[in-house]
Amino acid sequence: MNAFPIMDSHIHLDPKGGPVKAVERFLDAGGTHLVIVHKPYSKGPILELSDYGTAFKTTVKMKDLACSMGAKANCVVGPYPGELPHQIEAMGPDMALELQLSAVGLALDMLDSGEVLGLGEVGRVHFPVAPEVQNLCDKVLIKAMEGASRRKAPVVLHTESITSNENLMAHLGELCDRAGLSRERAIKHYSDPKTVRSAFDMGLSASMLCRKDHLREILERGTYPLLETDFIDDPTRPDVVLPPDSVPKKVRWAIEARLLDDDGQYELMVSVPMRAYGIDTLCWS
Ligand SMILES: [Zn+2]
Repeated sequence: MNAFPIMDSHIHLDPKGGPVKAVERFLDAGGTHLVIVHKPYSKGPILELSDYGTAFKTTVKMKDLACSMGAKANCVVGPYPGELPHQIEAMGPDMALELQLSAVGLALDMLDSGEVLGLGEVGRVHFPVAPEVQNLCDKVLIKAMEGASRRKAPVVLHTESITSNENLMAHLGELCDRAGLSRERAIKHYSDPKTVRSAFDMGLSASMLCRKDHLREILERGTYPLLETDFIDDPTRPDVVLPPDSVPKKVRWAIEARLLDDDGQYELMVSVPMRAYGIDTLCWS
């Protein structure tokens, strides 16, 4: 076994996909730690609070499954922002907002009971919507950040790209400050190297898709984000976004290519997860 832990900081597992196979592939490639992120498991938008409860529990079950197979796994839950426009369509903006705020409340209850590590993925809509919709998203996000800050917990952010909103990181930083959340605990997921730099400039954390070219770029630059696959475990779209064994495989490649030495590995897989997620990856039990 590698002397250093190897963590995928953002992966989804779905009971209707192949969660056992995915975790096997991760472990077989030398991976050790997983942050399993909640995803919408059903086709249509959630319209009842109780369905959020059931869906969040599914994520916890996926985490338990990964742990039972030998992975060091944690999970985060929260109402997916991409659902909000559909909820608005079905029930109107007031009720949709109320539902998402209540779902954040549920997630915070689970945080209090120790079932989950943090909140996510929460944030803003990634496709074009009216500014009023993003304003509602921000209200949900502020509640998530306030709750997380009181518990010193991480918040995994799903948002539009910096290409479509060049003020994104400054805006997210302001929301953190308003909510009292340490900026390091706000993790911009689905980052590329440019997004990583933009997040770091604002003191935010970033989780980068672990592609070879991305990894080469950030290591040559000497920056260390979290590494993720954002694997969605959807049998109709296998290996999307990246295959579940990508982080261990690409880290090994970077070591062999002499892009990553021991100090770099320590930074990437111990210091960064501690700073962003509050996870001690050196604690193997
Ligand atoms: Zn995701």
